[in-house]
Amino acid sequence: MNKPIYFDYAATTPVDLRVLKAMLPTFSENFGNPSSVHRFGQRAEAALETARETIAATLHCDPDEVIFTSCGSESDNLALRGAAFAQREKTGANQILCSRAEHPAVTKTALQLEKLHGFQVEWLAVDATGMVRPSALEKALCEKTALVSVMYANNEFGTINPIAELAEICRERRVLFHSDAVQAAAYLDVDVTRLGVDLLALGAHKFYGPKGVGALYVRRGTGLIPHLTGGGQEFGLRAGTQNIPLIVGLAEALHLTVTEREARSAHLRPLRDKIIGTVLETIPEAQLSGHLEARLPNHASFIFKNADGNSLLQLLDAAGFACSSGSACKTGNPEPSEAITSLGFCREWALGSLRVTLGASSTAEEVEQFVKKLPELVAKARGLLNFRPGALEE
Ligand SMILES: *Cc1c(COP(=O)(O)O)cnc(C)c1O
Repeated sequence: MNKPIYFDYAATTPVDLRVLKAMLPTFSENFGNPSSVHRFGQRAEAALETARETIAATLHCDPDEVIFTSCGSESDNLALRGAAFAQREKTGANQILCSRAEHPAVTKTALQLEKLHGFQVEWLAVDATGMVRPSALEKALCEKTALVSVMYANNEFGTINPIAELAEICRERRVLFHSDAVQAAAYLDVDVTRLGVDLLALGAHKFYGPKGVGALYVRRGTGLIPHLTGGGQEFGLRAGTQNIPLIVGLAEALHLTVTEREARSAHLRPLRDKIIGTVLETIPEAQLSGHLEARLPNHASFIFKNADGNSLLQLLDAAGFACSSGSACKTGNPEPSEAITSLGFCREWALGSLRVTLGASSTAEEVEQFVKKLPELVAKARGLLNFRPGALEE
């Protein structure tokens, strides 16, 4: 078999060798605890603060507005839980508004705040392209709204939300606005002054950085109750000795991303469009999921009627293509994801989702092979479903 082709960059990316190189000395040579007073500590602290400054420069904020966390999920958790508690304490507001298509790091946190902590969660509808319309937000905001959370770009169907407009509406109403930019940061401008957000979550492994590290932008003056208590690290907002190697990797990866963003997008956009165009042209009863234009430049996603997405993934894997069904749902879970369901597809369609995400090593040749093979595999996946009458009703 040919070398397997990786088309799942939205799930994770390999660490850029330049990033790895920046990280290496901080594992053993510069190993100190940045909180220590002595020179070993000072050296580690210097690496930590340089990383913080690098990130602040790319986000257009001050270094003390950047909090390091253990992943994108933790950044979302800290933003939601931390701001919800602080805001309720300050103003009594207890409503959280979330889009229906958010990542589980946001939705599950909101649901827990509702179930265990007395908050009220309202879901913002998305339109058929998966976008949160400013008018939907205007309508949903009320006196009791403490916090709004809308992702910058969707991981499952690639749609980009009008974050600056949404944040502006919230600012006028004095409501906090959080955006999950974990998927977006690889390709979109993350200038927080331009976006106007109060909180913004990042995760390094979606842009060629290491796994297990993230950051949260917290606008100065935004109250946040820490969810990890202990030492005074990260301005008292997140206890625990900082993981210097991963933090240095995050900073280097983000710096490279911002520097090379245009070139990376220019490389991938035509490949993405080739996939979208060919799939819709050659496969019957196929639809694009998400927005046709306002979508990440590396992201193609589809829904195939009467096909089982998981079977299709297995067939693709056997043929040498690593893709995703749009969520991390594993084989055996017959439910379409919440995000795909939020687009309004009926069950006959929603189960047949496919996500193809490109990245640094993707080539026109790989795309060519893929679009040539896919129609046959979709037909096969549909046949498998027909073999089990009633499979969709199970
Ligand atoms: C991957 C992802 C997360 C979770 O990030 P981790 O670093 O894997 O915890 C959150 N939100 C979105 C949109 C993502 O794509």
